[in-house]
Amino acid sequence: MNDLPIDGFPSTNENSAMVLLVDDQAMIGEAVRRGLAQEENIDFHFCADPHQAVAQAIRIKPTVILQDLIMPGLDGLTLVREYRNNPATQDIPIIVLSTKEDPLVKSAAFAAGANDYLVKLPDNIELVARIRYHSRSYLTLLQRDEAYRALRVSQQQLLDTNLVLQRLMNSDGLTGLSNRRHFDEYLELEWRRAMREQAQLSLLMIDVDYFKAYNDGFGHLAGDEALRQVAEAIRGCCSRPSDLPARYGGEEFALVLPNTSPGGARLVAEKLRQTVEAMSIPHNTPSDGSRLTVSIGLSTQTPTIGSHCRQLISAADKGLYLAKNNGRNQVGVD
Ligand code: GH3
Ligand code: MG
Ligand code: MG
Repeated sequence: MNDLPIDGFPSTNENSAMVLLVDDQAMIGEAVRRGLAQEENIDFHFCADPHQAVAQAIRIKPTVILQDLIMPGLDGLTLVREYRNNPATQDIPIIVLSTKEDPLVKSAAFAAGANDYLVKLPDNIELVARIRYHSRSYLTLLQRDEAYRALRVSQQQLLDTNLVLQRLMNSDGLTGLSNRRHFDEYLELEWRRAMREQAQLSLLMIDVDYFKAYNDGFGHLAGDEALRQVAEAIRGCCSRPSDLPARYGGEEFALVLPNTSPGGARLVAEKLRQTVEAMSIPHNTPSDGSRLTVSIGLSTQTPTIGSHCRQLISAADKGLYLAKNNGRNQVGVD
């Protein structure tokens, strides 16, 4: 705790005190100044104009306020309430300096928010002891608040970092789509949900046509770029937050479509096929002047109790096989 800097208190340590005396009588100010002059680590400020008191307190940030009660023009208790109502001064310990030992005045002072009550002019030993006591407890309070604030900041940073890590762990480095691990988790989850709700779950398996030839003809880097463009097209076909596009492996992608009928899935698949074709990425296979295309396998199932989502993947794979066999650049349904 000792090393913790407090906002606005760069050089304070727990043993130092900054005193602000607010009293209209210069004589009192002088007496207190003399009493504190020999004390180590106690800085003293005097304010004779009660109307300047709050502003001065905000400026010099005292660790203790000594507040006179009777001043011309402004009642000391009113000032005590003002310190308490101002966020910049609300926690500063206030020692009220009164002219008499009066239970009524005393109780009014504590009710207004004073922390201590001394009769003028107090014995110097007692005054110093109380200043040091209140000052130390105030600085400790500030340090505690600062420690909590720092803790909250680092907790938030940890949460943010975890989010970033989670996202990195789930995503494919080349395309930014979900990776295979996340796809497996997600499909499993959606399969079980569809089983519970007896809902339709659709899956598209998307494979780039003649992609080996693309790499051979244009180079691996151009191949990577083409994969990124196909990935963007797949991402663009997702209209619901629950749709999950993923890189299944190599030049194969998958799109999970929860609560989607065969007709709905077919529309998405056909739109995706057309979008990729319309991107007009030049290709040399099957013939010169071709464009890059994808084949898509599609399956929709309502999971039966005890079934596994593998069966959805293998059905979509069959659809993909059909699409390839029938000439590619088309949607195949198992
Ligand atoms: P088909 O039309 O039947 O799908 O033929 P294909 O050539 O696309 O299929 P094949 O499985 O023979 O080849 C896939 C190619 O995809 C081979 C591999 O080098 C390439 N590939 C896989 N992952 C990547 C990648 O991350 N970047 C690049 N540039 N190429 C990749
Ligand atoms: Mg391929
Ligand atoms: Mg393939």
